Amino acid sequence: MKPLLKSIRAQKKIILIFLFAILFPLVTVVYLSIDTFFDRQQSTKRLLESNLWISSESALNQIENELVRLEDDILNSQFFKQFSFDTLSSSKRTNIIKELDKKYSIPFLLDEKFNIVHPRTGNDESKIFKDNINISNLKFDIEFQKAETFEFLQKKYTKAIKQYWKCFSIAKNNRNKAFVLEGIGRSQYSLKKYSLAVESYKLLYEEYPKILNKAGHPYGIISILQLYEINKFQGTNANLIPKLFDAYKKLKDGYWLINSSSYAFFISEIKSILESEIEKSPNVEYKKQYELLLNISSSYLQDLLFKNYLNTDVIRKIEEKLLIANNEKKQSKRFFFSTENKWSLVSLREFTNFVDNDTYIGGFKWEIDSLRKSIIPLILENISADTGLKYSLSREEDVGALTARIPGNSLTLSFRKFPLPWKLVIVQPALNNLEKETKKEMLIFGLLLTILIIFMFMGALLLIRDFKRESDSMRVKTDFIHNVSHELKTPLSLIRLYGETLLIKENLKEEEKKDAFHVITKESERLSHMINNILDFSKIEMGKREFKFEKGNFANVIRDTLNSYRYHLEKKGFKITEEIANDIPIIAFDKEAIEGLLVNILSNAIKYSSEKKILTIKLTKQNRDVLLQVSDKGIGIPADELTQIFDRFYRSKQKSGFEARGSGLGLTLVKHVVNSHGGKIKVESEPGEGSSFSIEFPI
Ligand code: ADP
Repeated sequence: MKPLLKSIRAQKKIILIFLFAILFPLVTVVYLSIDTFFDRQQSTKRLLESNLWISSESALNQIENELVRLEDDILNSQFFKQFSFDTLSSSKRTNIIKELDKKYSIPFLLDEKFNIVHPRTGNDESKIFKDNINISNLKFDIEFQKAETFEFLQKKYTKAIKQYWKCFSIAKNNRNKAFVLEGIGRSQYSLKKYSLAVESYKLLYEEYPKILNKAGHPYGIISILQLYEINKFQGTNANLIPKLFDAYKKLKDGYWLINSSSYAFFISEIKSILESEIEKSPNVEYKKQYELLLNISSSYLQDLLFKNYLNTDVIRKIEEKLLIANNEKKQSKRFFFSTENKWSLVSLREFTNFVDNDTYIGGFKWEIDSLRKSIIPLILENISADTGLKYSLSREEDVGALTARIPGNSLTLSFRKFPLPWKLVIVQPALNNLEKETKKEMLIFGLLLTILIIFMFMGALLLIRDFKRESDSMRVKTDFIHNVSHELKTPLSLIRLYGETLLIKENLKEEEKKDAFHVITKESERLSHMINNILDFSKIEMGKREFKFEKGNFANVIRDTLNSYRYHLEKKGFKITEEIANDIPIIAFDKEAIEGLLVNILSNAIKYSSEKKILTIKLTKQNRDVLLQVSDKGIGIPADELTQIFDRFYRSKQKSGFEARGSGLGLTLVKHVVNSHGGKIKVESEPGEGSSFSIEFPI
């Protein structure tokens, strides 16, 4: 009982150790690491979020500052002064426009009355140009009027030509001279003096091409058209195509500052003449040249359109804007508006003391597509490389859809200095990645933890199992020593008792002496049987038990062993039935081992029979086996113990009412011997009815 208690106590100890030394620290470590894990994740998230805020703010500032810088580049008086003088040559103007294209803007300049100074086209109202044109020459005007009266009212063309020449001598500027030449040409044409008229128009074409007549038509074009007309009537066969090409190109380039209706008229006029002339001309080169010219975009037309746009949409808004913001003169102003679904962003600034101490307004229209598709993306590209965030522009109505796809990781900011219709959307991929990473880490962490716990539990189970086994075998061994010593003690005490009796009592009867000797012999036999068993067992345990197989008469060995026990059995009151068949063949076996086997089985039958002392021993030949059966009518063996009785040290737990001593080794040795002979052992038993052991030895 005590060892059992001890083992239970030890098991509890193991469980406690397991709980406190393994499970408790494990839970603590797991808790702490999960805690720090989430802490770390949270703080990284917060860090990334604040980074998103800071970076987004700074990105917005950078974009707007960059735009302000671009704006400042253009909005300075130096730049606009280039446009304020009539002297600006067409090539220089084209260069400036090209330069500006790089800055994605179209500039304009207004005077203080909101007249357009730049871009310049025909019919400009601005004071700057009026002064240049109207240089009055009263004397010339009077004489010129006379000449016109001769020509138009009196139709006296010869007189008119004379009067025109008079005007020519007093004309003080080229414009007046050109007027005169036009009059002369016209009059000569009326007089049908075509060659002279051609002379006049040629002179006009060569000397004064840039000058506009009173109707605002340039002499460079009028003269060609007249020459073409004369050509048609007179068939002079002069080739006017190159001159027409030149005029067409100059028109498109804005060589003449004419109004849009004149522009449209001359363009279509020249085109129709060119087409009919080229058709007639044998030179194929003209056709190619004409096609090239057709495809050249007209910068002057763009100016005309832009001016129209300024007049209809912008100037009114500028007036309103400047009225409201009257006191912040020198600052740049911007406004954003849409006309017919086209967005416009205009920046402007007032320049005081610009020309003649007057105030002028310089401004430009942003190329909205360039702003969206190249300027801002370019700036964002630079920022993105620094911060690792993703920036994009989105129209206000699209922002919702864009950010819904990336909740939490994005920020949407409106522009502040520039009234743009877009929002800046900033996405932090790191935050997305963080979530993915965290999930992955959690998974790995959880997996490792589960594996760890499984291993620990498995370890603990193995520990407990081993410990249980160990304690079981300890208990069995202790039982064994207890049993064996008891077993050894009994025969020894008997031997000693009878030995002493023989020694001390001198007048013992012969009968009594014989009995004493008999007991001594039997007990010492039992003793040696037991010691043999122990020795055999220890040999088996050490792997040193050897068998000597010799062919012999198996039946004789069984019979002899039974005979040597017969006296003992009969003395104990056993009724023996013995059936040994005659046809038992000669087989190979270890004689000593088989004797031991039978003795063990017989002594068990003696030990475990109480009331019915009936023993049956049968030896028969069955097919290829020799079958040995030993049956008794003893206490029997419970069904659940039938397999265990062959285990080492195993002894039945049933209380049989009498003390059957033993070591638990007998049947272990029996089984070993049977196995060594290649045989099989079976036991059939019914508690209270008896047991029957059957052993098959192969022949
Ligand atoms: P021991 O007899 O020394 O206890 P054994 O190995 O010979 O050891 O037997 C093991 C157990 O098998 C016994 O303790 C007993 O309970 C049971 N046993 C063996 N033979 C018999 C039998 N003939 N009748 C009833 N029980 C038996």
